[in-house]
Amino acid sequence: MVAAASKLKLAMYWGASCGGCEISLLNIGDKILAVDEACEIVFWPCAADFKYEDVRGYPDQYIDLCLYNGAIRNSENEEMAHLLRQKSKVLVAFGSCAHEGCIPALSNLTTAAETMRTVYLDNPSLDNPQRVMPQTRVEVPEGTLTLPTFYNTVKSLDQTVPVDYIIPGCPPEPHQIWAVLELIVTGGPLPAPGSTIVGASDLAVCAECPLERHEKQIERFYRPYEKAPEPGLCLLEQGIMCLGIGTRGGCGALCPQVGMGCRGCYGLMTGVEDQGANMISAIAAVIAAGNPSDDEAEMERQIDEVMDTIVDPAGTFYRFNMAHSLLHRVKSNGGS
Ligand code: SF4
Repeated sequence: MVAAASKLKLAMYWGASCGGCEISLLNIGDKILAVDEACEIVFWPCAADFKYEDVRGYPDQYIDLCLYNGAIRNSENEEMAHLLRQKSKVLVAFGSCAHEGCIPALSNLTTAAETMRTVYLDNPSLDNPQRVMPQTRVEVPEGTLTLPTFYNTVKSLDQTVPVDYIIPGCPPEPHQIWAVLELIVTGGPLPAPGSTIVGASDLAVCAECPLERHEKQIERFYRPYEKAPEPGLCLLEQGIMCLGIGTRGGCGALCPQVGMGCRGCYGLMTGVEDQGANMISAIAAVIAAGNPSDDEAEMERQIDEVMDTIVDPAGTFYRFNMAHSLLHRVKSNGGS
């Protein structure tokens, strides 16, 4: 039994994310007992009753390890990112939202005003006849109620504060979480900090995918419900979108092995600047279009025909990495 005073002080925080990362930490199974043995939880609002005031009261760098999951979507996420950076020796961007913005950052394809309108006014399942919209400040007889400011642009954690390590994934796989935690808990050697990826591979998902590959010639793409994949064969060459070529591995190619194309959640590989552009370029290289006798216009028509079978290209190629992409966000004009 490790004395409480000598335990590592561990924090976990949930910014703009779905909560899957919180669950993934518990998914390490009985290893969580080793974490409990070695660590004292000093902040984990999802699991225990901690208040922000508790963190504000800690001395700087009081927390040995902080796992921050979630993107920076609003002023509360941003304030907590700064506070936890100040209070933590090691700050980890845990999971895809903190790493690259993930699904929340897809709203960088529109504006905060449009997002609010869709959620609170235009959603067909809503019942909001008075068209009430959330306000950052409301006076009620009991006092003033406040909500965080909803930002126009979603950012990753490392676009907000300096980050020591990144554990990628949506969510990170348990074996990778444990590989990193074990090093931290046992004082094992970690790579030099500085937005350093840990717990993942340097190679693409394809490198760890056991499905058989041949030369690809794709005539059209299918959505998952449109085609039952032929077992044992690379999904992409069957026309089922799979981003394994352009996505960092380490997950064990779990999705392709059960017939679901890689969605790209481990993010871009080292040396790649834009995962979406990299994927579009890889896909363009395997499209079946063009004969030697075709002129440029005909070739373009054929390529367009195949590309038109990709439903939602922006959501397909930038699903996890919009905040880190070269696009970052669409140009907006004062929120309109
Ligand atoms: Fe790569 Fe996907 Fe094909 Fe597997 S199924 S080899 S991950 S493209």
